[in-house]
Amino acid sequence: MSDNVLKVSGLKVAYGGIKAVKGIDLEVNQGELVALIGANGAGKTTTLKAITGTLPPCKVEGTVSYMGESLKGSKSFHLVEKKLAMVPEGRGVFTRMSIQENLMMGAYTRDDKAGIEADIAKWFDVFPRLKERAAQMAGTLSGGEQQMLAMARALMSHPKLLLLDEPSMGLSPIMVEKIFEVIRNVSKEGITILLVEQNAKLALQAAHRGYVMDSGHITMTGNARDMLDDPRVKAAYLGE
Ligand code: ATP
Repeated sequence: MSDNVLKVSGLKVAYGGIKAVKGIDLEVNQGELVALIGANGAGKTTTLKAITGTLPPCKVEGTVSYMGESLKGSKSFHLVEKKLAMVPEGRGVFTRMSIQENLMMGAYTRDDKAGIEADIAKWFDVFPRLKERAAQMAGTLSGGEQQMLAMARALMSHPKLLLLDEPSMGLSPIMVEKIFEVIRNVSKEGITILLVEQNAKLALQAAHRGYVMDSGHITMTGNARDMLDDPRVKAAYLGE
């Protein structure tokens, strides 16, 4: 039996005449951390949006199956109920809510009050800057702080699958290190992760497997360690 959490088959996405994704296959198995790397405009974000069904008017072909079910027509609250959490590029925190309220919103499908409180305390431990600013409006946080909050909020829902879009974007090197430490720890806890990243080195160092996307196609896939040593990956994505 397959242990696919996510299976994407023959996915194509076109925005008007622009073919952003040109027929890709991709799978993420239970407990895996899979990195999807590639240059600007390769189609990575479009792939994530096609998975969650949050695309602007455009043509989508192919199938996306999550835990053996199609996600077609799912609204964002369905995704949370199905334990699929996404941290989009640009973070997507509720800017007019406090940090505390954002974290509570992340847990809205849960009713274990003590567990929710324990999780909030846990994330405040991981990210002390959020604790210091618990009552502050999320919209006033720095980019890095918003990234921490978006991750913590997504994890408050206890997802089975976490989709991360460019978590390192715009962050200082120290903050990037911190976010990747959290990603590795979350993966060790057993949460299945699909990580879209332009920072190929960090992503492949953290991941079990990787996919390279180029101009709408998957051009390479394999074990992340092997990909780090692959001369083609080194030349094109690791700047070596
Ligand atoms: P980046 O790393 O720069 O975010 P990406 O790999 O995530 O890139 P996408 O954002 O998926 O790439 O974009 C793939 C292609 O689709 C690009 O050529 C982009 O211009 C185009 N595209 C994305 N969104 C739209 C849209 N709403 N309308 C028209 N074209 C779009």
